[in-house]
Amino acid sequence: MADLKNIVILGSTGSIGRSTLDVLEHDEGRRLRAAGLAAHSSWQRLIEQAQQHRPRWVALTDPEAAARVDGQLQGTNTELWIGREGLVRMVQQPEVDTVVSAIVGAAGLESTWAALEAGKAVALANKETLVVGGSLITELARERNAPLLPVDSEHSAIFQCLRSGTPREVRRVILTSSGGPFRRKTRRDLEGVTPEQALNHPTWKMGPKITIDSATLMNKALEVIEARWLFDLTPDQIEVVVHPESIVHSMVEFVDGSVIAQLSPPDMKLPIQYALNYPDRVEGPSPRLDLTRAWNLHFEPPDRETFPCLELGFEVMRRGGTAGAALNAANEAAVSRFLEGSLAFLDIPRACRAALDHHDFDPRPSLQTLERVDAWARQEVARWVP
Ligand code: NAD
Ligand code: MG
Repeated sequence: MADLKNIVILGSTGSIGRSTLDVLEHDEGRRLRAAGLAAHSSWQRLIEQAQQHRPRWVALTDPEAAARVDGQLQGTNTELWIGREGLVRMVQQPEVDTVVSAIVGAAGLESTWAALEAGKAVALANKETLVVGGSLITELARERNAPLLPVDSEHSAIFQCLRSGTPREVRRVILTSSGGPFRRKTRRDLEGVTPEQALNHPTWKMGPKITIDSATLMNKALEVIEARWLFDLTPDQIEVVVHPESIVHSMVEFVDGSVIAQLSPPDMKLPIQYALNYPDRVEGPSPRLDLTRAWNLHFEPPDRETFPCLELGFEVMRRGGTAGAALNAANEAAVSRFLEGSLAFLDIPRACRAALDHHDFDPRPSLQTLERVDAWARQEVARWVP
């Protein structure tokens, strides 16, 4: 029997965090146990999760939310830790085996870094961490011998397909994209798009930030950069194809022309479970493909003119250095302005373009330089007027 793994879930109250807890619930403590759960401010949901999963620790980064927790953990063995340092301390605990990095945005970098530095296996959903600091993060993982396991469905698919050959036998990887809610729309159609329309994704139910990223195709841009770092690929080894059904999660083409694909219904529990049990496969809670019914799979090239964010991803991947930090921070700031109604949908790529063009580029940045560029880009976009 496999050893029991102690899991910390950073961002346990979010979409990926809750799917991770579904995987743990289905496992019934055979292989996986929740050792620690962390969130920003949603303390009520965190307490409910703690009551059900009985972790050793919970943490809230928002001190005001933590102050509202009052007695609910009394009589349990769960300790409450507060602030960003609570997360760092949690991932460093000696009994922790695997950290699920599922905080949204660059806010996930610090605790992901701490987990890798402590030599823990990291199941990575937080793609922004690799977009901002892919070079330093992958170097750290190598140095500490810490496995970096993809959770993003496309990257999990590629990771699974790569088992069909050696790295030298790979010609290219092909990331699939659903095309988002605005596939086949024109730029003019997109001018007056509201947050409600953009939040209505056709195939995936996810947190608000990544749902907007899927509508602009920035999500695919971030994933291109994520793939470059996770699999040590060159920029011309990565391609994107639109596949509206979200059944083929990605593909790998080998030098002999063989293309291996991974298929499953769109559900994050499968890639999460694969990362947590890797290299084993186990029975789990994800739905299975129904092959008794007629079905079709479609593929088409992405519309790069209507969705300029995609090109920004390829450009940033080629530039490296601080470009990823500038793009990611500008996008985070622009998405939150779009959601609060102070920027138009088409201003998201414009704001990102402006931040990329005007930032102080450094080809070999330190972590401190990346933080500085991140803060600068957020400030710029906060006062940016189209
Ligand atoms: P979400 O908004 O549903 O959840 C975010 C979680 O992060 C919450 O638990 C929240 O409390 C926590 N959080 C937010 N800000 C924080 C901060 N400053 N400090 C500490 N914790 C903070 O987001 P999600 O959809 O679950 O996405 C999480 C990550 O996973 C993102 O990087 C996203 O790109 C990636 N991802 C998500 C999906 C999906 O299906 N949802 C798929 C692939 C990748
Ligand atoms: Mg994805």
